[in-house]
Amino acid sequence: MFESLTEKLTGALRSLRGTGALTEANMADALKEVRAALLSADVHFTVARDFIARVQAACVGQAVLKSVSPGQQVVKIINDELVKLLGEGTTELAAKRPLKVLMVGLHGSGKTTSTAKLGKLLKKKGARPFVVGCDIYRPAAIDQLEILAKQEELGFYSDRVTKDVPALGTTGLATALAQNADVILFDTAGRLQIDTDLIEEVKKLKAAVTPDEIILVADGALGQEAVNVAKAFHDALGLTGLILTKLDGDTRGGAALSIKSVTGVPIKFIGVGEKTADFEPFYPERLASRILGMGDVVSLVERAQENIDQAEAEKMAEKLRKADFNLEDFLAQMQQVKKMGSMQSIMGMMPGMSGVQLPGDAEKQMKRTEAIIQSMTIQERRKPSLLNGNRRMRIANGAGVKVLEVNQLIKQFEQMQKLMKMMKGGNQQKMMRQMEQ
Ligand code: GDP
Repeated sequence: MFESLTEKLTGALRSLRGTGALTEANMADALKEVRAALLSADVHFTVARDFIARVQAACVGQAVLKSVSPGQQVVKIINDELVKLLGEGTTELAAKRPLKVLMVGLHGSGKTTSTAKLGKLLKKKGARPFVVGCDIYRPAAIDQLEILAKQEELGFYSDRVTKDVPALGTTGLATALAQNADVILFDTAGRLQIDTDLIEEVKKLKAAVTPDEIILVADGALGQEAVNVAKAFHDALGLTGLILTKLDGDTRGGAALSIKSVTGVPIKFIGVGEKTADFEPFYPERLASRILGMGDVVSLVERAQENIDQAEAEKMAEKLRKADFNLEDFLAQMQQVKKMGSMQSIMGMMPGMSGVQLPGDAEKQMKRTEAIIQSMTIQERRKPSLLNGNRRMRIANGAGVKVLEVNQLIKQFEQMQKLMKMMKGGNQQKMMRQMEQ
């Protein structure tokens, strides 16, 4: 997320950290670089200008120039100003129950996906979410929502025949309440551009279901355009929050950094990938530290806690300690890790790793390994030494890979087993030698 912005900012700040003493001149140079980095990330011009002015004022105010570790202090000031820019204060949804949420936005912004993602997140927190498909113009969108709702075990209602959106909304709401739902998410129709018909329709739906939250789903990859869209929706409907999607990949960051200060509407959630787990509450502090290349370990740990079964993890650790970790366990563990979301989104949260692009085939590689193990019998997974040439060939065929790959996996596994045995035996020196090879 925001790799190129992170790279440029850390570059600008590294020059400050490196210099023993700060002078007006090298500070001015560094801040010029910071400003250029913000502008090239498509941050709104006035937002970037005000940002630099605030950082400058804060530096002067704190007498940074005389301090012991001036570079670090500037980083701290920039971090604090970034947090302010991203939006301070609460980013939670209203606590009221039942909670009615209108999801609005343009076509392709990720509205339907985000509706399901939000439902999943709320369900994890103990809510009973229910989604209502109101996009009567695109039966495919209703189908997509229904599939996702089923997958995430959310309540669902829609009507593929009616042309009366407010009536659909009212019936959906009544159905949800009758089923004891406590958060009702309305996935409304989108358009390619904002037009009066769209706004009028959403206004009528709003009057019919009286939502507590009106959330705009905006495509974060659109930069300033997303900010303009948000402003127009806010003027027309009075938004209570934003979901910025597609912050994975090579998004430049301009939308995330400008949207709150331009519209006054807080970002509440972010989408960071296509999977339903690639969705997070928005924490300005954490994003600021990610942008400054300091990683976001807190989010990483939270995602692990939410998606990984604690008892299972402990069982695995125990098996590793006892050196009886086999390919069956390896497969189970890979499946657990996958639940945390895409590998790229996990990497982005690790300190120093946010700029690292995984090879495009990393995910594919994992799938191949999975296929190989799945083609083995349970006995073979437990004891790979059973695998003779013939069986290896059959497994390669079954998994659709080359025998070479099967051999590599088994070899890697045997090495790992050796290491585990040494750890168990406490032979650390031998182990270090082994790892160096
Ligand atoms: P809608 O027209 O606004 O309902 O958009 P959809 O929910 O159908 O999403 C449009 C496309 O964007 C789909 O291919 C989604 O998988 C994709 N998408 C949605 N959110 C994200 C995200 O956070 N990251 C990425 N990479 N893709 C996303």
